Amino acid sequence: MSEKRAFETLLIQGGSRGDEFTGAVNVPVYLSSTFRLPEFGRNKAGFEYARTANPSRKDAETLIAQLEEGVKGFAFSSGMAAVTTVLSLFSKGDRILLPKTVYGGTYRLLNQVFNRFGLRMTIVEYADESALREALTDDVRGLFIETPANPVLAVTDIEKTARIAHEKNVLVIADNTFMTPYLQRPLTLGADIVLHSATKYLAGHSDVIAGVAVVKDAALAEIIGFLQNALGAVLPPFDSYLLVRGIKTLAVRMDRHLANASVVAAFLVNHRAVDRVWYPGLESDPGYALQKKQAKGAGGMISFRLKAGYDYKRFFKALRIVSLAESLGGVESLVCHPATMTHGAYPKNLRDAIGVTDDLIRLSVGIEAAEDITADLDQALTAARVA
Ligand SMILES: *Cc1c(COP(=O)(O)O)cnc(C)c1O
Repeated sequence: MSEKRAFETLLIQGGSRGDEFTGAVNVPVYLSSTFRLPEFGRNKAGFEYARTANPSRKDAETLIAQLEEGVKGFAFSSGMAAVTTVLSLFSKGDRILLPKTVYGGTYRLLNQVFNRFGLRMTIVEYADESALREALTDDVRGLFIETPANPVLAVTDIEKTARIAHEKNVLVIADNTFMTPYLQRPLTLGADIVLHSATKYLAGHSDVIAGVAVVKDAALAEIIGFLQNALGAVLPPFDSYLLVRGIKTLAVRMDRHLANASVVAAFLVNHRAVDRVWYPGLESDPGYALQKKQAKGAGGMISFRLKAGYDYKRFFKALRIVSLAESLGGVESLVCHPATMTHGAYPKNLRDAIGVTDDLIRLSVGIEAAEDITADLDQALTAARVA
């Protein structure tokens, strides 16, 4: 699509815009692993073998590139497959900087897999500018940003961090899962690559595992395209269709996630059973001003901790509408216990250092009626009281 369109319109009218052959408004699920060549040395519309390119996946890839304002998009079989492919840009001896809090799986991948291939990492508090500059040693090739970051929702200044990294020619990779391009576009703030677990808000219905990456420049797109095909962790056609279908309603879903999250955050702050709440949409939150500067909203994720005398296991057990489950970003409200679930791969001392204490609860606020969510939380918090 060459003309500029509003984001909400692009969500629905972007991508391949249906099927040219039949006029179907949705791109069909192309269940074909291979494509007949019209003659030797020539293909039709760029398709030969479906690991390399498939029309259903291409629709999702074109759409996400438009939404993140990059030159090219790539869809993968999971968020971790997107991270794996992007990290495969680096070589033995290279070093990656990681923020203090990052998705547990990203840490695990670097700490237990890529380290065996000689890729090193350093964890840095980016907000401490001198610590960041000091950590940018000559072997650093990549810097990973996740903001707001799992699970205490720490906010990183994308523009400033990217500027400092670029002074040393370091590639900046941003995990935008918690925000989606509706709320925040890291490529426009200086990141070189943006990636997502599309399993979460982008697909939005807890029915598909998917990942995407979008790059800012054509040379980098060439390399990621090579790696995507070489590694082969691509998003299947039906999952690509589900992803595109989910993305169409992203704006209306995110508006409701935001509205509900602000109601739920205020409810939790004022609840007698709650000790502390982390949500960058609260004026009292340390990330509030920065979040407001670089994103259109604070998202739908809230973390909190119960007061002494309340037991989180009882709280989980008493919930009736909100489900205890991994994952986030779906239409239904979910809670999880980061210390044993999302951040189970972190050693205990590191978990404590980044605020993932055993009593931390993470809530993904869904799009049910806000009063039903708060009523369920209220009765479960009351039931959590220990004698
Ligand atoms: C879930 C998640 C991932 C991993 O994505 P999968 O789709 O589960 O492989 C990466 N980053 C963040 C921030 C996530 O929440």
